[in-house]
Amino acid sequence: MNDLTDYSIFTHKHDLLIFISSIYTAGMAKLKCSDYGFECDYVAEGQIEDVIVEFGKHTEEVHGIDYSKEALMQFILRKK
Ligand SMILES: [Zn+2]
Repeated sequence: MNDLTDYSIFTHKHDLLIFISSIYTAGMAKLKCSDYGFECDYVAEGQIEDVIVEFGKHTEEVHGIDYSKEALMQFILRKK
């Protein structure tokens, strides 16, 4: 999708998140529960913002783990 992989130039997480959300506004993402150690076949797929909301809601409601938006964004970034 893009070849910008060096995020270390961003010293502040906040700036990084703004940057990421701007380049990924139209981006797609996929998060699978089973990739994060859950015995669960739930998959959230679609627009990144929706995936973050839906996966976060699922892990909180079904697994009792409340991931922050920031943590979920990291999950998505690490998959790229
Ligand atoms: Zn799950």
